[in-house]
Amino acid sequence: MKSWLKDPDVLKQIFRQNLPLALDLKKTIWRYANTIKEREKCDSIKIMNFCGTHEWTTTYYGLRNLLPPFLDLVAGPGCPVCVTPAYYVDVVIRLASKGVRIYTYGDSLRLRSVRSSYPSDLEEARANGGDVKVVYSFLDAAKDSRSYGKESVFLGIGFETTAPSYALAIKEGMVPENLKFLSTVRLTPPAMEYTIKFYQERGLLPIKGVIAPGHVSTITGAVEWEFLPREHSLPTVVAGFEPIDVLMAVAQILLMLKNNKAAIKIEYNRLVSWDGNTYAKGLIEEVFEKTNAAWRGIGFIPKSGLKLKGKFFKKYDALAHFGMPDLTPKEWEHDLPPKCRCGEVVVGIAKPTDCSLFMKDCSPTKPWGPCMVSFEGTCNVWARYGGGSPVPPEGHAGGG
Ligand code: SF4
Repeated sequence: MKSWLKDPDVLKQIFRQNLPLALDLKKTIWRYANTIKEREKCDSIKIMNFCGTHEWTTTYYGLRNLLPPFLDLVAGPGCPVCVTPAYYVDVVIRLASKGVRIYTYGDSLRLRSVRSSYPSDLEEARANGGDVKVVYSFLDAAKDSRSYGKESVFLGIGFETTAPSYALAIKEGMVPENLKFLSTVRLTPPAMEYTIKFYQERGLLPIKGVIAPGHVSTITGAVEWEFLPREHSLPTVVAGFEPIDVLMAVAQILLMLKNNKAAIKIEYNRLVSWDGNTYAKGLIEEVFEKTNAAWRGIGFIPKSGLKLKGKFFKKYDALAHFGMPDLTPKEWEHDLPPKCRCGEVVVGIAKPTDCSLFMKDCSPTKPWGPCMVSFEGTCNVWARYGGGSPVPPEGHAGGG
């Protein structure tokens, strides 16, 4: 264990009033993990945390150092910016160079295209005279675009968590017709299913349990993860984002593994229910339809994306409006910049430190690959907080 994690004051900062519970959980996790390791005669027990924010919590607080070294907590594809295909970055760069105003979230500005031609990201496109505006929400873009009155496009990145706000604005007529929507919204359960099969088909060390995403599940409900225990015998816990939530999830997964009983548990029951937010789900269904969609570094996954449907498609779809084709598998071949291993990082078979460019030619101040761009990207999180060798939290007392 890192010496700073032996410091009671540091532990108190991390777990606050939950410190006694955290110390109990730590002991329980070691006990369960050792029992499973001895029984199954395995060298490692792999648990996937799907969500980028869980990776942030785990890494920032150095939680891996409280766990047995053979307990391998790996990150999954749960960062929407990381998995947005380069093709859509190319599209908005091209449109910006033609005078179309582009609205984007701040963490997508430095998402690289893989074209060699300049500019290579929206930040460069803006420096080159392109009209690129950073917004905090789709509604901000809609408001600004209404007063602007000319052709503009919103780069609609996100998971199920963001989709209801897009759907509401579009359905309720809050979006002016001159603002088009480029949907790169992705659905998380199909990606989780893809990842499990990816391991199975390649005979890789199997994932033994899943920490399911808390934010997404506030919308989808835990029901969306039911297939994991039912079809893949995987203990699954929908968890929150405090350090204590992550320890609780790991302990619950290990308990199920120890008892050979796969089920789904909702640890984040202060916000997540079994059925989720039925109003938000209804909005998504009304405005969007599921489509086969590409994930950057991974490939096309059936029914894993959302595109506008019916009258909303006709009125707002950016690609249709500008006569641009959608991404095809052939185009997708040019998805990652050379030497970037994000495709392996997002499915948890490589760690950021396995990449030869990590903190050399790729860093948070100069990202080369998509996993280094967003605060939720695994490479970015490891770069800032040390990954497997975390740094002390330096007075940060939780929450993040
Ligand atoms: Fe890609 Fe950079 Fe991560 Fe390497 S360190 S996998 S180049 S994002």
